[in-house]
Amino acid sequence: MAIQPIRHFGDPVLTTPAIEVVDFDKELRTLVADLIETMHDAPGAGLAAPQIGVSLRVFVWDVDDAIGHLINPTLDLSDEMQEGEEGCLSFPGIFAETPRAFRAVAKGFTMHGEPIVVEGTEFLARALQHETDHLNGILFVDRMESELRKNAMREIRESEWFNTSNANPIIKVSPHSTRGLGQ
Ligand code: ZN
Repeated sequence: MAIQPIRHFGDPVLTTPAIEVVDFDKELRTLVADLIETMHDAPGAGLAAPQIGVSLRVFVWDVDDAIGHLINPTLDLSDEMQEGEEGCLSFPGIFAETPRAFRAVAKGFTMHGEPIVVEGTEFLARALQHETDHLNGILFVDRMESELRKNAMREIRESEWFNTSNANPIIKVSPHSTRGLGQ
């Protein structure tokens, strides 16, 4: 197991849809272990594989003292919404009101290839939605109301991490399309 560097906004891997896991092998188990260790080191409540530069449909969470992971998840969301502030380890220091469904039912697989259903409300539902979004190349700023997103983007552009951590000259600073995805 090893702590991996967390990619920051501006890194193209964060806006690239991740691909389905096909091989439930030792490499996958190492990835899950690395994600959990990196999340705890940060510390954070969730982490998706693209955030450590691995474009696979895998994420982990640690919510209410329960650690979990999901492979190839799909989500069913309630119509009922919740309010609350959200942050992201790929956007250090940025927190803003982000609307989410109140309840989420996530279906996917464990790292051993067994089917699993995870149902959560409130913060767990928020984490499941935030992390599944990462697998679709969607970031929490994409979910904010336009005025809050503008404020967040200004904070991001002024942040030290945004101006120092991305050596890649192709840096997108405009909000991304959600590509019509509703989850
Ligand atoms: Zn995030």
